[in-house]
Amino acid sequence: PTVLNSGEPDARRRARPHVVFVPSAGMGHLLPFFRFIGALSAHDVDISVVTVLPTVSAAEADHFARLFHDFPSIRRVDLNLLPLDASEFPGADPFLLRWEALRRSMHLLAPAIAGVAPRATAVVTDVTLVSHVNPIAKDLRLQCHVLFISSATMMSLCSYFPIYLDNKDAEADVGDVDVPGVRRLKRSWLPQPLLDLDKLFTKQFIENGREVVKTDGVLINTFDALEPVALAALRDGTVVRGFPPVFAVGPYSSLASETKKAADADQSSAMAWLNQQPPRSVVYVAFGNRCTVSNDQLREIAAGLEASGSRFLPRWWTATTTAGGVRDVLGDGFMERVKGHGMVTKEWVDQEAVLGHPAVGLFLSHSGWNSVTEAAAAGVPLLAWPPGGDHRVASTVVASSGVGVWMEQWSWDGEEWLVSGEEIGGKVKEMMADDAVRERAAKVGEEAAKAVAEGGTSHTSMLEFVAKLKAA
Ligand code: UDP
Ligand code: UDP
Repeated sequence: PTVLNSGEPDARRRARPHVVFVPSAGMGHLLPFFRFIGALSAHDVDISVVTVLPTVSAAEADHFARLFHDFPSIRRVDLNLLPLDASEFPGADPFLLRWEALRRSMHLLAPAIAGVAPRATAVVTDVTLVSHVNPIAKDLRLQCHVLFISSATMMSLCSYFPIYLDNKDAEADVGDVDVPGVRRLKRSWLPQPLLDLDKLFTKQFIENGREVVKTDGVLINTFDALEPVALAALRDGTVVRGFPPVFAVGPYSSLASETKKAADADQSSAMAWLNQQPPRSVVYVAFGNRCTVSNDQLREIAAGLEASGSRFLPRWWTATTTAGGVRDVLGDGFMERVKGHGMVTKEWVDQEAVLGHPAVGLFLSHSGWNSVTEAAAAGVPLLAWPPGGDHRVASTVVASSGVGVWMEQWSWDGEEWLVSGEEIGGKVKEMMADDAVRERAAKVGEEAAKAVAEGGTSHTSMLEFVAKLKAA
């Protein structure tokens, strides 16, 4: 070991930051945290991860367990959630309740963070918790960063929305939001609860939007070539004056443990099936972890896929909620007819590996941000059919970046009408045959690879983030 002179040990201790991650709940929030943590662990930093007990679901507990197993140097900090009286919020979404319970337990974070060794130097939290976590971090004299799980465009809405409300005529309804320097976001594209200022979601969103501006930095799973306009406007203060540094560090890669998890499930058969398909012949269909699709709409999608003449791999999570499963919904006839050119799975797949497979030519997606960045990384055209939440804002990026096409006029799952199999099949067929669409998506894939390579924008941003941590 090197012998250090008296001045060095201190300098060295200061040079090694200790980051405490405080993730929120929901797979769409946790996966990007885990992926970023995996990437950060390659750098010279200590890492702790706050695990809130009890975990929401077995799947979440499982992902936490794998993270600590695969990265033994990462420390686990347990935090026991205080019970929340759900009757206070009749009809609220379970995830929203979880976020609220987390927010109300955040005072427990101060002693938990104060207890870690070596001394913590920074906290990285989720946007849903930031209005509680940032003041705690500031009290403890720690840097506080937000790891945002959606797009830079969504971050521009999140931070500008409170200002929009301050400027709006108090009597008027929420309308289109023209985010300075970014774009006009139509009212119908906003997460639906934002239209009602009394909603718990909206109250949290506003508080968090105001606070995010006061943090030390915002990490986003995006890259400069994907959202050049929104990133520039955030960085130069056009969206909100004094906005903290923005680190565009995406697209993230999935962790080895996710591949393993998929291998444990249906992955091997899905991949084996893909291996037998011609290049760019398969439509991969997936709507994330939380969207439900009615049986009627499912039948239209199936009919559309069949009519498109393409091969297809739908991952139908929601079908698991149907007693009897996919076969009952779609019928034996369908299952027989599509044998060979279609494979239906309801198991967890390694989506990154599926999208990276040469047989996949199109991704029919709900446009969840993780899915969009995974399609961008793979250079696979995405056909966006967004249900709500931040999916429509994400779809604006799908369209503007060249990743794919957004069917803005398609209603989600019979909210207004069912999208017919004929229409779905026609669009799929058209996109599968469109060279220009394919080339644009492939170009984005090349840009994504450049961004994360040595010297690329995301790689450089990551180094800047690590340097900022060291400046604590
Ligand atoms: N995912 C996966 N395998 C599955 C289903 C989902 O790997 O079988 C991953 C997918 O790759 C993505 C995430 O789960 O990273 C879903 O996030 P997204 O933001 O697209 O949608 P959400 O589920 O949050 O609505
Ligand atoms: N969001 C936010 N501030 C909040 C709560 C949520 O900026 O206080 C963002 C969140 O990151 C997501 C979007 O709002 O991008 C819409 O959330 P959604 O209803 O889709 O739930 P999620 O998919 O995040 O679970």
